[in-house]
Amino acid sequence: TLWGCVGLPAEQTIFAMDTYITLKAYGPGSGAAIKEAAEVFTEIDQLMNIFNSSSELSMVNAAAGQYAVQVSADTFGVIEEALNLAYLTDGAFNPVIGSVSKLWKQAEMLSQVPDREQIQQALRFTDYRKVILNSSNKTVELPEAGMIFDLGGAAKGFAAGKAIERLARYRSIRHVLINAGGNVVVYGGHPEKRPWRISITHPRKNERFLGTLEITDGAVVTSGDYERYFMQDGERYHHIIDPATGYPAKGMQSVSIVSSDSMQADLLSTAVFVLGVSKGLAFLEQYYPEVGAVLVDGDGAIHMTPGFGERYGWR
Ligand code: AMP
Ligand code: MG
Repeated sequence: TLWGCVGLPAEQTIFAMDTYITLKAYGPGSGAAIKEAAEVFTEIDQLMNIFNSSSELSMVNAAAGQYAVQVSADTFGVIEEALNLAYLTDGAFNPVIGSVSKLWKQAEMLSQVPDREQIQQALRFTDYRKVILNSSNKTVELPEAGMIFDLGGAAKGFAAGKAIERLARYRSIRHVLINAGGNVVVYGGHPEKRPWRISITHPRKNERFLGTLEITDGAVVTSGDYERYFMQDGERYHHIIDPATGYPAKGMQSVSIVSSDSMQADLLSTAVFVLGVSKGLAFLEQYYPEVGAVLVDGDGAIHMTPGFGERYGWR
């Protein structure tokens, strides 16, 4: 049987980057290999988690208004990509949203909407155009005290992509699936010689999926207003912030992006969530025509990029 040639999968679940991460790999030596791949998530957490005060990114944040900080190639690369997307989306995606997103993280713990005044104040420190990068010595500088990097919209996707790359280096490993809190990355197709089937969570009915799609290699990343939120006076306050207002982005319940590149999918899911349905789809068509997307708007209606259904066997 097929089981005979690929062997039983090795599977491991860890908690890192604020979420449960499951890694599954098929092939000889897969046990040791997924251990190594799982470590990628803890490594990236130690570089880019701003709630870990010893992370590299926390060092950059602590030095805001004072000096430039040298960072790893990984951190520098993610910051560069995140800033590129910030320029491309005119700030809808904003990696310097930390002053505001930290307020909302606190608000979520207290289930209490921040004061309008506090939000206005925090918004003054979100100008990503002021970030100073030096690519020859990999330094990053936030020129004003109060500016705070937040790479929460991209770090998990970056880590998942790096973990897959590490597994792909083992020639004996033929099939891999990593699920990092709904960020799914696969490699090599399913061992039963078919694509991987990936189900997308329904943003409102957690007992039902929105749908299922098929890919052999690549990433499916979802940003949703149901992932982290609290309710106050019948309003849902979630973790994806519209930098134009300082409040949770309106008009969208979830955005799923299908891409060959895991970090790109993560970046774009957050960006398109903020852009909304019409701007988001136009943006993808103009700059990322190769990327597939399924959007659920504020009323629960589903929108897709052209040809999505046929291309990914969506049902
Ligand atoms: P995701 O779940 O990938 O959409 O990422 C959401 C996370 O990205 C939040 O928890 C924040 O850390 C960060 N974030 C929130 N709003 C934005 C934004 N407008 N641009 C970039 N990152 C954001
Ligand atoms: Mg994201």
